[in-house]
Formats: sequence, structure tokens, C-alpha cells
Amino acid sequence: MGKKIEVFRNGCRAAVDLPGSKSVTNRAMILAALTGGRARLEGALFSRDTLIMADCLSKLGCRVDLHEGERAVEIASGGAREFAPSADLFVGNAGTAARFVTAAAALRAGGVYSFDSDKAMYLRPMKGLFDSLRGQGSRFEFFGKPDCFPFKMFAGGLRGGEIRVDASASSQILSALLMAAPFAASPAEVRLEGETVSLPFVAMTLAQMGQFGLCARSLGGGRFSAEPAEPAGAATDGSRSYSVEPDATAASYFAMLAALAGGVVLLRRFGECRLQGDADFLRVLEEAGLAKLARVGGDMLVISSVPGGRARMRRHEFDFNAISDTFLTLAAAAPLLDSPVEICGIAHTRAQETDRIAAVSAELSKLGAAVREGEGSVRIAPPDPGELARMAAAAPVAIRTYEDHRIAMAFSIAGCVNLGSDCWIEIENPECVSKTWPDFFEALGRARADSEKFATVAVDGGAAVGKSSVSRECSKALGYMHVDTGAHYRTVAFGLLERGIGPSDVSAVEGVLGELKLGAVIEGGSARMTLNGELADDSLIRSRRVNENVAGFAALAQVRGFLKNYQRSMADFARRNGFGGLIMEGRDIGSVIFPDAGVKIFLDADEATRAARRAKEGISDSITKRDAMDRSRKTAPLVCAEGAVRIDTSHMTKEEVVAKTLSLILESQSR
Ligand code: C5P
Repeated sequence: MGKKIEVFRNGCRAAVDLPGSKSVTNRAMILAALTGGRARLEGALFSRDTLIMADCLSKLGCRVDLHEGERAVEIASGGAREFAPSADLFVGNAGTAARFVTAAAALRAGGVYSFDSDKAMYLRPMKGLFDSLRGQGSRFEFFGKPDCFPFKMFAGGLRGGEIRVDASASSQILSALLMAAPFAASPAEVRLEGETVSLPFVAMTLAQMGQFGLCARSLGGGRFSAEPAEPAGAATDGSRSYSVEPDATAASYFAMLAALAGGVVLLRRFGECRLQGDADFLRVLEEAGLAKLARVGGDMLVISSVPGGRARMRRHEFDFNAISDTFLTLAAAAPLLDSPVEICGIAHTRAQETDRIAAVSAELSKLGAAVREGEGSVRIAPPDPGELARMAAAAPVAIRTYEDHRIAMAFSIAGCVNLGSDCWIEIENPECVSKTWPDFFEALGRARADSEKFATVAVDGGAAVGKSSVSRECSKALGYMHVDTGAHYRTVAFGLLERGIGPSDVSAVEGVLGELKLGAVIEGGSARMTLNGELADDSLIRSRRVNENVAGFAALAQVRGFLKNYQRSMADFARRNGFGGLIMEGRDIGSVIFPDAGVKIFLDADEATRAARRAKEGISDSITKRDAMDRSRKTAPLVCAEGAVRIDTSHMTKEEVVAKTLSLILESQSR
């Protein structure tokens, strides 16, 4: 059964929990088994590939306890030399397990191990690893093709000295040997013959070895030294706790979702991604002009550059060698971009879960893209947008996934883009995502549901604290409607002053209010008030005269009562006009107008900062006096509403305040 991908009807606004990194989890597991003692891995990934690794380690005699609810794995091991002398090992289609477990088990001299896998793994490169292990004393018998799965290994340990390796087909072969090298009988130097691919993964291996008390380092020129390991568990009093960082490759999908569908995504804990090269995908997205990034604490915000529009590219050629697991994320998005993309440095991906270049080319052609395959590259020209929309309207296009989780996830993200119909992409065999992210479709479903929730956001604060610019920016990023209620008071004040009425003339004010007919028009994402059918010019409502009198009018219960229902009606006005939410700024929005607002924010800044900001805008305005009147009036005084988050903006840039506000809104949407 295929999975029909429903589009995000009105852009994307979501906060996403990323799964633990597959690469880091599987390295941590094998390192825990090799170094011995007890280890608890926190934030571990639970997926097919990591469960396969856990299963292999328990067959090798380690005790592996899985606590899925806590996302924790506990491993107790006697260390590399204490592995069970024989075992039947099954590695599925997990490249990490295939290479890492083979090299680890080879350390147990005299051990005899049978290895089998999914059929797809029979085709994936292993020869480089077998050659190195043969050179060190192990023997192999192959049941299918030579130097391929399935096979039997007669382990001979590692002698040490120079270990030559050809890892040109997969960096995992080099990583496998590096992790085993400290357990060789004598000090080892691993020597790369030729080049390898995806270098960040080798750096990840070395860094994680260090975290497990092993010392291996690059000597340059493809040479790596490994110091002999301490006896099992010695370095840690027998137990250690290890925190697995979130999966940066998984983050690429939701980052691309924001870029393509328009809107903002918050990637929780993305800032903890330190070991994974794929974290750089976000930088590529930014460089290509598809999104802006902003860090908020440990989280990352991805803000689409073109909310609702067709993604426009600033860059067209990309070398994905170092971040090749994410190339499919960009390739699958290519039909939705405005110009061709060319991705190179990916020859080795032809020997991964499937021939990824061939697979993605075949599927992209179904979407009308013109694809040119090179041996290690692919060039994709998008179809004509009209043609794509017609195709999308006709029937969902079935995307074959080739048992490749990344093909499934990458095309699902493209399918979220609203081309006019409810669904235009159907993913075949969607369960293949369980390889690295079993909950992917649930996460996508939650993001879609959160994106469709209408949010009301209240932003309050004194004059010149930055309410307007922050509210405007946030509304633009989120596809929300913006309303400046200060302009309402100003417009009414202007109308009354025009009629010769001052704030002290309460009965005259009361008499005339009934003659003022309020309306609204939308201008650049903001709703603006009209008075008797006319939009008052900005220069008129921001004049010195209005500045001096507006707080006086705003203190009158009659004026506030007059505007209250109008301001409340703006929520419906936003809905009717297709906005995903409403950001209303003023003095009493969180306290009086929308006391139940999903998010309430109170902006503050010290006097000097505010005065400087006003002066910079060239506005002469007695903000201190106005604020004092606004705070002390009886009706709806300026206060930090109950439940509001107070942000002192004095030492923050506008971008920082915007990012903080966006993250508060997205977090509240996902509750
Ligand atoms: O936001 P701005 O400075 O343009 O607001 C002008 C004045 O309007 C404020 O000083 C205040 O007196 C009044 N106001 C209010 N309640 C709001 C928004 C503005 O009393 N919600």
C-alpha cells in the first residue's frame, strides 16, 4: 500500500523533534562493545539499522538492553577480546553494521562467524575491508559472489603494524578499521590507499573514539595512527553515559519542507549536531537562497525565503561529496525550483541502499523533470510549473522507493508542496523509512496538523520597544496577518482632532464616535483600519499632534470600548482572507483583547535604547510621557499580561527578537 502525501495547504509552521543520529548511535554501540564495561547511550535512535546493530552485538555476547520509551540503550561488554567465539550475524541492509561488526568480530582470534544480510547488501562494497582483514590474519568463505555478502569469517585478530585499506567505495570501511585498530596485538597504523568519500564520517569516527577513551588520529596523507586501548572498561570505572546527538540528515527533510512549502520550521536541539557533516546541508540551503537560518538557544529555525512562492535559487551547482546522504533531499525538490540544479561528488551513492543516482533520476522523470545522469553527478531541470500543476491535478504520481528510506523521505517532502490538489505524490513501500526514522510519517503528520492550526499571537509593550518591526517580520515569515492597534488609536485620534475635538472633551468624543465607520483593508500582509471608507495616510496619524494626544484619547473607556470589538473581529478577518494566524500588537492585546491568545509576548527595552531607536527613525515623540499615561490609566493599562513571556530587547538585535518570538509561536503551535 502506498502512502498518499497530503499537501500543506497553507504553508508550514512546525516544531520538530529529530530522532537520534543513526551514524552516531551505531558507532557508539560498537565502541561501547569494543571498549568494554557498561555504557548507557541517551537519545539513541531506535530504527531498523540500530536494532540490527544491537542484535549483532548481543549475538557476539554483549548484553544489550533497549529502553525505547526513554530512547536509551544500555550495553555491557567484556570488550573486544571477549566476544562469543561463534555467531550467526544478520546485518539487514545496514552498511554500518555490515562493516563495523565484521571488523570488530575479526578481533576475536579463533572466532568463526557467519554473516548474512538483505539481498540489497549482497551488492554493496565490502572488498576493501575483506582485503585489509585478510592482510591481518582473517580468512573468508563466500556463499554468493566473491568478496560479497553472505560469507563466513574465520577471525584471526588484528596483528597491527601497517594496515592498508582501500576505502574508495565507502568511508565506512575505513571507519570500521579505525575503530578496531586500537585492539590490535601491536600498535597499528591505518593507511588509506587512494581516496575515500564523505570525509566528515571519518572525522566523526575519530571524535567518537576519543569520547570512548580511544586514541586514533589522522597523520595526514591518508595515514592514521591508533594507540593500543586500555584494558576493558579501565578508563571509565566500568560505566559511562553517552549522549547521542540528533540526526542531521533527518533535519534536512524538515528544513527543505520549510524552504519549499513556505513558512518556518523549528528543529529542536539541532545545535547539538556537532559530529555530523550533514548538518552543513542547512548552510547549503541558505547559500542557495532557499531559506534563512536563525539559532535560538540550542534550536535552529529555518525560515523560507519565499513564503508560498516557487523556490528561487541563487546557486545552481553543488558538490555533495561531504554531505552525500542529503543529496536526495535537494534532488527530489528540484522539480519545484525555478532553475536547474547540478549535484556532483556522489558516485559512491550508486552503491548505497540502491543506485541512488539512477533511482532518483527515474522518479524525477515521472514528475516531468529533465534529468541528465553522470557517473558521479546528476543535473535536474524542473518541468514547466504549469505542466507540473496539470500533472499534479490529474492523479498522484507513484514514487518507487527501491527499499531506500531516503528516497521515500525526500519525495514525501516535495509532495507536501501545495500545487492545487490535495495530494500529488504517493510513496510506494513507505515502511522503508523504518531504517532510520520509523516515526517519519507521524512527524510529518503532526507538522501538517500544527501548520493548519490558526494561531492568535499578542505582542504588547511600550512605545519604541520594537513591537511593530518584530510583529511584521514574524507575520511575514509565518504567513500570518499583522495588525498594529496603535494605528487604530492614532486613526481615531486623528479623526477626532480633525473635527476639533480634544481628549479632554469626553462628551464630544462620545458623540462623534458613533459617526466613525471602521473598516479594514489588507496591505502587504497587514490589516489596516479605514475610517469612513478611507485609509488615513501614515504621515497624518504619526504627526506630532497625534503623538501628543493619542494617549489621552486611548485612556478614555469610550474609545477603548469602541475599538474592542473591531479589534477582536480581526481574527475572523484574517481567517476569511486565508492567513494562517494573526499577530496583533499593542498595549492590552494579551490582557484585554485576546486574553486567551495562544502566545503572549511582552517586549521591553531600557529608556536609552528606546529613545535611540526613535531618534534613528527620525521621529520626535515623547515616549516616556506616553508610556506613563498608558501605564497609569484606569481602563486597560499597559501591563505585562498574565502568562506573557517578557523579552528585554535592549541588548538584542531585531533578528534575535524575531527568532525568539518565532520559536515561542512554533512551540505553542505544537502543544
Ligand atoms: O503603538 P503606538 O505607539 O503607535 O501607539 C500609540 C498609542 O496608542 C499608545 O501610546 C497608546 O496610548 C495607544 N494604544 C493603546 N492600546 C493599544 C495600542 C495603542 O492604548 N492596544
